[in-house]
Amino acid sequence: MAHLALYRTYRPQDFNGVVGQKHIVQTIQNQINHDLLAHAYVFTGPRGTGKTSIARIAAKAINCEALTEDGNPCACCESCQAVVGGNHPDVIELDGASNNGVDDIRDIRERAKYSTSLSPYKVYIIDEVHMLSTGAFNALLKTLEEPPAHVIFMLATTEVHKVPETILSRVQRFDLKQIATTEMSAHLEKILTELDVSFEAGVPDLVAQLAAGGLRDALSMLDQAIAYKNGQLTLQDVHDLNGSVAEAALVDLMTAINAGDYATIAQSTRGLLAAGKLPARIIDGLLGMLRDVLKIQKIGGKHAQDLDQLLPSNQVINHIRGLNKLGADLKIATDGELMLEVGLLELAFGPEEAADVRLPGPVAPVGEPAANYEEELSRLKVQIEQLEAQVRALCEAPRTPPQPVVEAEVYATSAEETMDAPVEEEVSLEVVNPGTLKIEDVLSEATLKDKTALQSKIEATSPFSKLENKEVVMLLKDADIAAASPVGCVLVYDYETTVQKILTVESRAKAHQLLADMQGRSYGFLALPKAFWLSQRESYVNQSKQGMDPILEQYSQESVVEATCSQEEKKEIPFYQEIADLYGDVVEVEE
Ligand SMILES: [Zn+2]
Repeated sequence: MAHLALYRTYRPQDFNGVVGQKHIVQTIQNQINHDLLAHAYVFTGPRGTGKTSIARIAAKAINCEALTEDGNPCACCESCQAVVGGNHPDVIELDGASNNGVDDIRDIRERAKYSTSLSPYKVYIIDEVHMLSTGAFNALLKTLEEPPAHVIFMLATTEVHKVPETILSRVQRFDLKQIATTEMSAHLEKILTELDVSFEAGVPDLVAQLAAGGLRDALSMLDQAIAYKNGQLTLQDVHDLNGSVAEAALVDLMTAINAGDYATIAQSTRGLLAAGKLPARIIDGLLGMLRDVLKIQKIGGKHAQDLDQLLPSNQVINHIRGLNKLGADLKIATDGELMLEVGLLELAFGPEEAADVRLPGPVAPVGEPAANYEEELSRLKVQIEQLEAQVRALCEAPRTPPQPVVEAEVYATSAEETMDAPVEEEVSLEVVNPGTLKIEDVLSEATLKDKTALQSKIEATSPFSKLENKEVVMLLKDADIAAASPVGCVLVYDYETTVQKILTVESRAKAHQLLADMQGRSYGFLALPKAFWLSQRESYVNQSKQGMDPILEQYSQESVVEATCSQEEKKEIPFYQEIADLYGDVVEVEE
């Protein structure tokens, strides 16, 4: 089924189509109309807020042969059509992540000297510009110091603090804001109406909220929802797809926490986890809800379930603090689900709450169970400590200290062979052999094209086409695709616990199969926690700028959480381990 992702279909083609960012759009339009263009611009802001879209529209408008009366590109002239077709000889788009070398920028400098072939201006759009190496920045700086009159640079970045001051002082900077929920919601509603999709009231609002200011994320979410639902789109559909938790379930959970109802807390938590919700999403959901409650209490309004009446403000604030801390703890916890349960119990039975005699709501449970909570709590705590000690031991054992050259130790994933058999209950172990794919292998061949292609394939994959794959599809959707090459990709997660989830033997095999199905060939992946990825990316840039072929630390692609392994699988693994140890490099990623 041919399907063009919504965020591409609805990519704004002129300034009027840009959602939010009015101040920026107006300024640029004025500059174009009054011929006051700068030689270089930097657009910075969170992902999905329209940085490259605005840069592309501006590039189009600057070279348009027949600007419309309201200062928009005409969309019809040769130049406009060439930009839309991606083959304008004078509008050059580069990805700072893959063209980050000094040679790439020197090449631009050389070519910038020549005059344009079709239009008055040569426009260079460099996305992710913060990824340039120091050498490349220096080369860019030289061009910016003496820019040819017909050259304009449009730089885009999510991390402007990584762009050298010397560059920033020579460019005009635009800070894009997160798109306001109301504005985004109105836009989404318009799209749904245009597509003739019926939806339950509140769906656009919910999607906008979940996307947290990023329009691209919002449209992807809508995309998935539409792809898998034929009838009316409901709030529950959106929650199911997003892995987020419906408000009703959150209200139940919060009410139980407030009431100190241990049984319900444990039951709701386990129910949500069993339904495939990730611990981090549950915490996000609770935090979002409490934020709303606090807002209602401070600014006014009414909470549908009267939580504003039930929870005093100081307690809402305490809960927010507790949940924030729990979120941080989760990032380093080995067993996220256990940590979540313990954390929520602590929230319910914390000393502050116990002391708060004015606590409204249902009476806390009486009598003998109280001793049991205490017992349960300390039992769980001991269990966590044990698990953490195990992890420390594992970490300290073979793969530390992290050294740059540890090729033999490196266990990365390889999509060795595409499995022919469909993944049912049984998981073939062939695909989960520790392989030889390394972060630097992916980075050295990474292209923006591979990344966006993979992104849209993942976006177009419904988590519901095969129920047993649902969680893994969600995990893939949850990943930030940091880089993709023809042979494999780097998937980045905020939480280490999430990384561990996709790296269990079973999930990894399913993920490989799903990626192979999407790509039509076997395709490797590396799952990394965000902090690890950022440090290695930096190391990659630093090493390349010194002219080295970068060698990076690797993150073990074998989960320490083997809970999902069946007994047979556990028996099998050492055997494959041995094979891998023996043959190591023979297990290559195949194109
Ligand atoms: Zn035009």
